[in-house]
Amino acid sequence: MALAYIGLGSNLEDPLAQVNRAFVELSQLPLTQLLQRSAIYTSTPVGPQQPDFTNAVALLDTHLAPLELLDALQAIEQAHQRVRIQHWGPRTLDLDLLLYGDAIINNERLTVPHPYLTQRSFVLYPLADITPDLHLPDGSVLRDWLAQCPPDGLNRISPAR
Ligand code: AMP
Repeated sequence: MALAYIGLGSNLEDPLAQVNRAFVELSQLPLTQLLQRSAIYTSTPVGPQQPDFTNAVALLDTHLAPLELLDALQAIEQAHQRVRIQHWGPRTLDLDLLLYGDAIINNERLTVPHPYLTQRSFVLYPLADITPDLHLPDGSVLRDWLAQCPPDGLNRISPAR
């Protein structure tokens, strides 16, 4: 069993509906329980000009191995008919495995903790909704990363559940 944090993002085709549907799909994964969802936010995009993103984080309790979980996340993305035109570009649904317990994973398919976890307000603030005193596998603490990352362009549009 592992606690896994999943980042959700969408900026195409009714992003709020995409994110809410993804929460339901995450709750239906095999050997997995959806424990908590962050508030939902909108964020100003990084990279090329495009619509604002809708972002959130989910906390799962899962018996899936990391690559099995990645497969399951990618299947959900496919089911949302994800459009990937360019890196950092618009997408119907992006699911990132942010953390998998205390695991540090570096292989051709998976980097955990997710490389942008500590630098993106749209990841850090939703993580803090769920686990404000979170410690990362390298021993650093979420509060310190938050202090270095102002919530510019980030708007909370619905409460955590
Ligand atoms: P992106 O759409 O930009 O999130 O990138 C998707 C690609 O990143 C896929 O090929 C994954 O195998 C790879 N990847 C590496 N680490 C992760 C992670 N922690 N979560 C999700 N995808 C990852």
